[in-house]
Amino acid sequence: MKILILNCGSSSIKYKLYDMAAQQVMAAGGVEKIGLAGAFLKTKTPQAGKYMHDIPDHATGLRFVLDELTDADHGVIKSLSEIDAIGDRITHGGPFSESTLLTPEIFAEWKKYIGLAPVHSPAQAKSIQAVMDCLPGVPQVAIFDTAFHQTLPDYAYLYALPYRYYEEDGVRRYGFHGTSFRYVMQRAAEVLHFDPHHSRIIIAHIGNGISLAAVKDGKCVDTTMGMMPNEGPMMGTRTGDLDPSALLYVMDKHHLSPAQAIDLTNKQSGVLGISGITNDIRELVEATKQGNERAQLALKMYTYRLKKYVGAYAAVLGGVDYIIFTAGVGENQPPVRRGTLEGMEYLGVQLDLEKNEQVYGQETIISTPQSRVTVAVIPTDEELMMAQDTLRIVSQAKA
Ligand code: ADP
Repeated sequence: MKILILNCGSSSIKYKLYDMAAQQVMAAGGVEKIGLAGAFLKTKTPQAGKYMHDIPDHATGLRFVLDELTDADHGVIKSLSEIDAIGDRITHGGPFSESTLLTPEIFAEWKKYIGLAPVHSPAQAKSIQAVMDCLPGVPQVAIFDTAFHQTLPDYAYLYALPYRYYEEDGVRRYGFHGTSFRYVMQRAAEVLHFDPHHSRIIIAHIGNGISLAAVKDGKCVDTTMGMMPNEGPMMGTRTGDLDPSALLYVMDKHHLSPAQAIDLTNKQSGVLGISGITNDIRELVEATKQGNERAQLALKMYTYRLKKYVGAYAAVLGGVDYIIFTAGVGENQPPVRRGTLEGMEYLGVQLDLEKNEQVYGQETIISTPQSRVTVAVIPTDEELMMAQDTLRIVSQAKA
């Protein structure tokens, strides 16, 4: 079965075409700057290329992707009829608790929650519609970033606002990065030979955006992101946890509109805001080595806040058996892993400092053999998880 995975942002579409029988990625790339000057299609596989196009909307972007896949010269399939199913990444699934076949009824139901993710959901709705128009009859599966967290108990997902905002407006914590957490949990269990249904796991997805999840017996019981993806530890450009009064004070003093406040807290803050130089942890670590004090402060704040959540989740889980690092920083930045777990011997965590320094993106245990808690790096693969979901759901629907 050939499955096309789509990941749409407000101005981009990333794609990967899988041949599930051969367990192979046939093509991958993306369209960027949709609706903006300088839009282009970039291909990574089967060959690298960048093609400038006029791409006013997501439907046009999708058309270019499909044309690329079937291109007589460098395409990977002869006709679109070879695509058996599509998997769509949906940032905000509202109350949806698992990946699901996108029937017109489900699509209409999901659209009720578009307002919960005003940046991503409208673009994703357009892309789903464009697929329905361009590839009629090809089944689509929606994979929700929030679904994994629907098992949170009410006392973990509610904000302490008057209850009516939850009842009337759906104001609550939803959590994100769920597809990554699911993949990493499944893969960690395979690689480390444990039963996730009888384990206490903390997974730290540390990329530009950051989420931690506390997983007990296979179910997520708490996560750091909230109603929007800006709660929890300090991130590349996002504040993470912030007293709302501090933001209201700054807004009032500097006459900021809500849109400006959203930009301030999501794009200008975090590591970038504190260091004043970068949001990229690679560059930050370099700057700390050059003696840049603000970079050193930013890195200290960054790991300190990660550590606080590891401690909090150990408390939530009543102890911890596995701590797993994933995503760009979690997979590739030894100083962040070291700083996060420093001084946690009391919890049974003994990091193998030498091994930690050598691990860049490999599936590896980085705790000592004596450590009560197993610490490991497991690279995430959200698209593969999406392709597996799509295969399973489409096969079930056909059966
Ligand atoms: P996103 O949340 O945008 O998907 P990523 O998971 O790609 O982000 O993570 C981006 C961060 O990961 C950056 O801060 C970058 O410095 C770091 N990173 C990514 N790849 C590497 C690498 N090979 N070596 C060191 N750091 C990396």
